[in-house]
Amino acid sequence: MESNVDRLIPHISRLQANIEQLSTIINPSKPGWTRRPFTDEYDSGRRWLIEQMQEAGLTVSIDAASNLIGSLPGSDPALAPIMIGSHTDTVTGGGRFDGIIGVLAGIEIARLLLESGKRLRHTLQIVDFTAEEPSEFGISTIGSRGMVGNLTETMLELRDDTGLKLADAINRQGGDVSLLNIQARKPGDVALYLELHIEQGPVLEQSGNRLGAVLGIVGIHRYRVQISGAPNHAGTTPMTLRHDALAGFCEIGLAFERHCLHYAKDAVGTIGKLTNEPNASNVVPGLVRFDLEIRSLNHEISDAVYAAFADEASDIAARRGLDLSFECLSKSDAVIVKEQVLEQVLAACASVAPVISLPSGAGHDANQLARIAPIGMIFVPSKDGRSHCPEEWTDIQDVAAGTQALGEALLWFDAADLSGWQDD
Ligand SMILES: [Zn+2]
Repeated sequence: MESNVDRLIPHISRLQANIEQLSTIINPSKPGWTRRPFTDEYDSGRRWLIEQMQEAGLTVSIDAASNLIGSLPGSDPALAPIMIGSHTDTVTGGGRFDGIIGVLAGIEIARLLLESGKRLRHTLQIVDFTAEEPSEFGISTIGSRGMVGNLTETMLELRDDTGLKLADAINRQGGDVSLLNIQARKPGDVALYLELHIEQGPVLEQSGNRLGAVLGIVGIHRYRVQISGAPNHAGTTPMTLRHDALAGFCEIGLAFERHCLHYAKDAVGTIGKLTNEPNASNVVPGLVRFDLEIRSLNHEISDAVYAAFADEASDIAARRGLDLSFECLSKSDAVIVKEQVLEQVLAACASVAPVISLPSGAGHDANQLARIAPIGMIFVPSKDGRSHCPEEWTDIQDVAAGTQALGEALLWFDAADLSGWQDD
């Protein structure tokens, strides 16, 4: 086989065959390509992945959180490993690329290293993280949380609909929750975490770029807003004497959209959940409760959107004789890719295909790994921006370009001195 030490060129047909092969290991009674974690098909997928990892020269292990890890020892045992990971669980009715290409790209890179005889200085670990998608236990990124010591006792006690405890599910998957604390990786234990993922949005396709260097993963601020008016008879209450909570919501909802549009370069905002009471066709609505979220890499922008919106909403409510209350539900911090990592990921991508930098609007295992290590992510285009559906599609040439860029980045980072990157 042709060896190319300086450029790890992926074998497109092999990558494609592997994506197709894994896409057959699913639950046929579910729509799309469904492989939920902690199921028989997930086990079968794992067994197939283990074979692939072994063929790629990786030593396979399963950690306390049941993550599947393939390791390739580096020449300098004093260096912390570089990790490449993603996930092979899917949402119900999901597609063939989300998560999957990140794991298979890692295995392809390991194969290329084996075939070229190139030895890295850092140990390379390829990880299939357990249960990245929202699970039957109510939480997501279970495996990566477990790896970095962020799977709490309360989470381990969570039960699915059948009464199974998360701790038992992890143990059945080959993990050992009694070892979670001992194995939890701390800052410095991983030199760098890299992940290739589909964009799950339309930006790369629309802009004609084939690769995306991820600037960071947005933080999410969620609020609950309640609008209280006066429920009354829809026939006998004159228009001028109403305190209609739903009419007030319409104006307030549009104000929210306008404030988000004002910051459209740096933030997105959504009202995705709404209740209307009493929700009867012959009653003027008395109460509307809705949840809104604002996502941005910059929490100051999220706060600015919210403050401008809350001001205007208060004015609208006062004018309409409605009571308004706000409650902050949660604020998660954004993950920002370090400048040194971003610069090199951009350069690696640019050497392969047209690239732009962009934020990730969705969460990933990288969110958890960022607690202990610098992270870098590469996106490849999603056709029509679609994902978490059977139509999810990424051209194999783009998967290959992303894999090649990931390999380029890996070689550069392996040659660099990564110590100290954790702290700045
Ligand atoms: Zn994913």
